[in-house]
Amino acid sequence: MNQPESLPHPLQAFRYCAQCGNKGLEIRQTRSIYCPACGFCYFINCAAAVSGFVFYGDQLILTVRAEDPQKGYLDLPGGFVEFDESADDALRREVMEELGLAVTDVSYLASAPNSYLYAGVLYKTTDMFYVCRVDDISRIHAQDDVAGYRLADPHAMDPATLAFPSARGVFGQLLRSIAPCSA
Ligand SMILES: [Zn+2]
Repeated sequence: MNQPESLPHPLQAFRYCAQCGNKGLEIRQTRSIYCPACGFCYFINCAAAVSGFVFYGDQLILTVRAEDPQKGYLDLPGGFVEFDESADDALRREVMEELGLAVTDVSYLASAPNSYLYAGVLYKTTDMFYVCRVDDISRIHAQDDVAGYRLADPHAMDPATLAFPSARGVFGQLLRSIAPCSA
């Protein structure tokens, strides 16, 4: 299912104070809820997420999403960063969990904001994009929240086929980063 054009505010999911049960929470400074009855204040911060442009030779390894949002769309392997985990480690873990692949040569490329609607609740994310490699795909297999995988020539693929606008937006940066030097 595509994400709808009009998305709820992330704080619409909170109707009652988690401390005193009061109804009538205030949204403050865009990202926080405040209970005027007891003074409880809670910030809903951006969720950190990672995605990998994973190369096998000159081919990109893309995943096919098994779940909504954007079920069936092409995506990059990746996911949310866990508590007390570095973004780099999250990328390595997610690619292993989704495709059974150990990545090398991990380098940061760019970041972009994204909106992720799950079970009726909107999560605002900060997506961090990495470029990395795999030397061996003999053990590749789709698992976790991935339905399959595809190999694609990044110069020939249409970034509009990717599930999320954050990945589409940094795709041009990827192409420039891998362009052969012509000096
Ligand atoms: Zn309260």
